[in-house]
Amino acid sequence: MSNSRIPGKNFLFVPGPTNLPDRVVRAMAVPSEDHRSPIFPDLVKPLFPALKKVFKTETGAAFIFPASGTGGWEAAITNTLSPGDKVIAQRFGQFSHLWIDLCQRIGLDVIKQEREWGTGNDPELIEETLKADKNHEIKAVLATHNETATGVTSDIAAVRKAIDAAKHPALLFVDGVSSVGSLPFEMDAWGVDVIVSGSQKGFMLPAGLALLGVSEKALKAGETAQMRRAYFEFKDMLNANKQGYFPYTPALPLLYGLKESLSILFEEGLDQVYKRHHHLAEGVRAAVAAWGLKPCAKEPKWNSDTVTAIVVPEGFDAAKVIEIAYKRYNLALGAGLSEVAGKVFRIGHLGDLNELMVLGAVAGAEMAMLDVGIPVTAGSGVAAAQAVYRANPLLTV
Ligand SMILES: *Cc1c(COP(=O)(O)O)cnc(C)c1O
Repeated sequence: MSNSRIPGKNFLFVPGPTNLPDRVVRAMAVPSEDHRSPIFPDLVKPLFPALKKVFKTETGAAFIFPASGTGGWEAAITNTLSPGDKVIAQRFGQFSHLWIDLCQRIGLDVIKQEREWGTGNDPELIEETLKADKNHEIKAVLATHNETATGVTSDIAAVRKAIDAAKHPALLFVDGVSSVGSLPFEMDAWGVDVIVSGSQKGFMLPAGLALLGVSEKALKAGETAQMRRAYFEFKDMLNANKQGYFPYTPALPLLYGLKESLSILFEEGLDQVYKRHHHLAEGVRAAVAAWGLKPCAKEPKWNSDTVTAIVVPEGFDAAKVIEIAYKRYNLALGAGLSEVAGKVFRIGHLGDLNELMVLGAVAGAEMAMLDVGIPVTAGSGVAAAQAVYRANPLLTV
């Protein structure tokens, strides 16, 4: 709920759910309709090729499940693997952690590789592990493209190279929930077998759709995969989708919203979407530097263009900054999760955003930090971000 004591819009700067474009809100304001009507396929069928354009796949299949991103993780695993299968996953933040946890609970043998939080995937370690796996017992590599908890983006092309260098047949599963539709992502070029995404981040929708891209190789693996599955069965979904329907009642308004949000992404152009996210992120990073603070990302190469986790100085509680930002300024910042709870606050800078909106978040974070006594110079972060935005405006008139 937005802070109703304060008029005007709530400044939503958590890294998901993201702001809903007005066009999407209007598109979702529809009466209910018959999801088995003869015209329903007119809405449904074009969604799949459009999603494939966002995933950048020609040969893969796109799936739309009524679920959050977590359901997408489960769909990826249960449709392709068998109980006890070995998979490699590196843990460097709350989301990579949760995917591992789900795999373990569901009955996979996870080779968990710990990495420092603030770093990302280590392709060399993956290559080494796969090379040692002479009998090809490892069936999949799980990689979190954008670790939303720490603001870290990993190089997925490098993970593919590592798998190829080891000449290993393992499938590559990628969590792209906070990257797809915001950061460059290339399913075919990077040899990704399953990409998992969700509606409430780069797709600028409410939560409720798990959006997946699945390669031919992963679909084929499904023919022998023994994991139990019912609701998330790819085959049932593919069969119904072919006719423009779903095996069960779809989340109707979300489908209308998805149609609209895909149009918005294509109207701007995916390359421009990626450029805008980088540009907005550069402003936030300049602000962090001007405050004399550090991002959670340990090196610039890990910097995420969709979310920045900002480490507060020793002796201060990041949760207090978030609370004040919300209560006094109607600004929602992202919390530090698990191992970085109280140590970081996060600014989500993805989705339907522009420069002045981001400056609002930077200004609010700055005020909240001053209010809790963090010694930043008033106006310094805003000025630094302004300089970045003025030097290279998004739109040149
Ligand atoms: C948001 C997010 C998820 C999925 O979360 P849900 O709440 O289940 O939608 C998964 N992975 C990453 C990296 C995320 O940012």
